[in-house]
Amino acid sequence: LVRFERVTKRYGDLEVIKGIDLTLQPGEKLALIGPSGSGKTTLGRMLMTLEEPTSGRIWLEGESLWDMTDKKGRNVRANVKHLQRMRGSIGMVFQHFNLFPHLTALDNVMLAPRAVMGMKKDASRERAVSMLRKVGLANKLDAYPARLSGGQKQRVAIARALVMQPKIMVFDEVTSALDPELVGEVLEVIKEIAADGEMAMMLITHEMDFARDVADRVAFGDGGRIVEEGPPAAIFENPRSERLQMFLKRFG
Ligand code: ATP
Repeated sequence: LVRFERVTKRYGDLEVIKGIDLTLQPGEKLALIGPSGSGKTTLGRMLMTLEEPTSGRIWLEGESLWDMTDKKGRNVRANVKHLQRMRGSIGMVFQHFNLFPHLTALDNVMLAPRAVMGMKKDASRERAVSMLRKVGLANKLDAYPARLSGGQKQRVAIARALVMQPKIMVFDEVTSALDPELVGEVLEVIKEIAADGEMAMMLITHEMDFARDVADRVAFGDGGRIVEEGPPAAIFENPRSERLQMFLKRFG
């Protein structure tokens, strides 16, 4: 479904991604773990088309999302239409929820199906309601973001991404900005969605227990490289590299 091929990313003199190869199968749940500053968010943002790689390729469903290999400057990055179309297959949830404050929960979720997919009002409403039900917010349809807790806002943001029926969802540290007591409800919702099955997920997270529970595969990144990857049991119980062993020790 997704393939990173020798992807690098440089900010000025700082090379934050140093040649990464990574694949995701359809329906696969991949957790990306690693120390702060190791480049996890940058990797996610390139997949979400929010950041342009410096070199390499990223494929989505056999089509190149980014192709930075053409030295002649012919590059799909210039093709805004192409990126917009591809973006439709990618659901994104961020640390900060970015809900529209002047719209109710329901209207926040209905907006993209109406505006981007041109769905009729009734159909998009029906779909939005079912997504909000899925994230446990059937009783908050008409609430404005200001009246919702952080966990509830994040669940609206998840519903808003789900409603577009993406092939892959990227969750970028979605619980990092939440009060500790609200983390659980959001992770629980993500677990339920993961259990539904067919959608692939990239989970960028500092929650190790969560990664272990939800992921089919875990990739440990450090210093701009994927240092180790494998099934959760291997990564957490039998880490091979010293760097991963050190990292896991810090999480007790
Ligand atoms: P965290 O877990 O703390 O979010 P991370 O692994 O997600 O960390 P990134 O956010 O991807 O790491 O950042 C990787 C490196 O890139 C960091 O050193 C960061 O300072 C740098 N960086 C990220 N974005 C930019 C930018 N727009 N300009 C310059 N440097 C950046």
